[in-house]
Amino acid sequence: MSYRDEIISYIEDNRSLFTDLSDQIWEYAETKFEEFKSADLYCRILEKEGFAVERGIGGLQTAFKGTFGTDDGPSVGFLGEFDALPGLSQEAGVCERKPIIPGGSGHGCGHNIFGAGVLAAAFAVKHYLQESGKPGKIVYYGCPAEEGGSGKAWMVKAGCFRDIDCALTWHPSSMNLVQMPFALASIQATFKFTGLSSHAASAPEKGRSALDAAELMNIGVQFLREHIPDKARVHYAFLDAGGRTANVVQSDATLLYQIRSPKMSDARSIYERVINIAKGAALMTDTKVEMQFDRACSDLRTNHALDKIVYEAFETVGPVPVTEEDIVFAREIRKTFTADVKGSNENTLREYYRRDDLADRIRDKEIVDILFPLEYVFAEKTASTDVGDVSQILPVTQIGTADYAKDTQLHSWQAVAQGKSPLAHKGMLTTGKVLALAAADIFEHPEKLTPVKEEFAKSWEAEPYVSPIPDGAEPRLTK
Ligand SMILES: [Zn+2]
Repeated sequence: MSYRDEIISYIEDNRSLFTDLSDQIWEYAETKFEEFKSADLYCRILEKEGFAVERGIGGLQTAFKGTFGTDDGPSVGFLGEFDALPGLSQEAGVCERKPIIPGGSGHGCGHNIFGAGVLAAAFAVKHYLQESGKPGKIVYYGCPAEEGGSGKAWMVKAGCFRDIDCALTWHPSSMNLVQMPFALASIQATFKFTGLSSHAASAPEKGRSALDAAELMNIGVQFLREHIPDKARVHYAFLDAGGRTANVVQSDATLLYQIRSPKMSDARSIYERVINIAKGAALMTDTKVEMQFDRACSDLRTNHALDKIVYEAFETVGPVPVTEEDIVFAREIRKTFTADVKGSNENTLREYYRRDDLADRIRDKEIVDILFPLEYVFAEKTASTDVGDVSQILPVTQIGTADYAKDTQLHSWQAVAQGKSPLAHKGMLTTGKVLALAAADIFEHPEKLTPVKEEFAKSWEAEPYVSPIPDGAEPRLTK
């Protein structure tokens, strides 16, 4: 049996280990920095498999790593996530909105299959290293709080990931692809204004309104929006608008701001200007402003040489296999999608890849059953990921697999409802096979890392990484 067949059958033979793990994490549905049961379960499984486990790495209680192998060969890292989203509690396997616990959390971003799929890859490669006797090391990184915490950016700041040559990861999806090499850099901070309360009618002159300051800050930022790069975004939310009484000059108001831009350097300079606007608003209203950095994540540094290694593995494994049973469930789920949502996978093919021919091939499908090409076209719209910071310090690539019905939106109840489905399980195992084959390819041919490292070095030379996290900042561990 070739090593490739060996890896694929190892994952198939042990499939219940990975699917049970993913289903258990789905049940726990723990949110950012509170993934105690999830992290403990991973650590125990890794220890049982013979990995050397370190808990609480990078200053984060729920971050961990499991290492296996020797230091005399290549070292490949796997990035696993396992946090859930607040407010998305939802029964599995049903086609209607049905929370298990109203207001509870749920795995709307598929991080239950995320961590377990990467674990399948790590275990398969461990098995391969033992069978082949090849030198080398694998490290499974358990990365908490991707949602709303940017866990990996804190881990990078604390010195994690320095023990590996490159890292492989993925994200659950409704498409089979090596993911778009684009994510926006993001910085988030709160601005707390403090003034003086007083009677709004009888003594308005004695009051200093924090609410006025917050409104002036929002207006200032509104004018700033004309003067930022096209693809930059500035979002805000009122965390505290003072109070519910109109007859009081509001002494407290807090705003949350998120600044995104294709490059961290731009995000940083917009951020500086937003800070100045906050100071200006405080000056205008004779209030005080206290700014607190919340979190940040960098844009993705692409590595096409590493993408190519993973893509070849993906071609060997093929897209996620689909059965009639999967199609029946997907058809019912898709009936709950709005007209806006339907067709979004085709739009990805048209907008990102400029490929109408491929869009036509999936138009009438309930589940995407093809592997998208490895072509780079600049994406128009996107979000941010803390994988960005890891990709800034070493070569990283990520794939997506079709684990959900076509057009399924992440962060939706429909994604939670599909999180324990046979398709989600197969997508996760497909990911495990692809990433394991790619890692084994590196151990078989260590020279393949040379162009990967060269490409990284060149990119670093053009733009070295500076952590977006200010020195001395601490992650906000509670909600
Ligand atoms: Zn996610």
